[in-house]
Amino acid sequence: MNTETITLKIEGDENGAIRLCCPICNDEFKVYISDWDEFESDTRYCAICGLESIAGKFYPQEIYDVALGQAQAIASAKLEQMIHNAFKGNKSFKTTTVKTTSKPQMKNIETDNTNDADITCNACKRGHRIPNFSESQKTYCPYCGELV
Ligand SMILES: [Zn+2]
Ligand SMILES: [Zn+2]
Repeated sequence: MNTETITLKIEGDENGAIRLCCPICNDEFKVYISDWDEFESDTRYCAICGLESIAGKFYPQEIYDVALGQAQAIASAKLEQMIHNAFKGNKSFKTTTVKTTSKPQMKNIETDNTNDADITCNACKRGHRIPNFSESQKTYCPYCGELV
């Protein structure tokens, strides 16, 4: 079987933000998916505790669940297509046309953003959001790790 790469697209809320969960302190913050994807380094900082981790470690379980569901849907559509192709031309089998899934897209997994604080880093000018942020709280830039 050929190896295929499946690309899963993560979509954020109406602001383009997705919720992340720090692997160290377990606190949550949000980043804009376009900045997060395009950032040149694999290293990110927790907006709450400021500690450094690999980007992939910040994804919460629900993102994995959605990604897994998508991957399974794509895989089974491909399998059906393979079976369909294998039986094509064989008159003793009835085949039906397989609908291939459209471009995989991650559903809007974050909807509640009413209490988000919109924060912009003074150093690198990238933004992030903190749910239920209080004025006395500190926050770190997820990209450059600077205290904002
Ligand atoms: Zn943290
Ligand atoms: Zn920054």
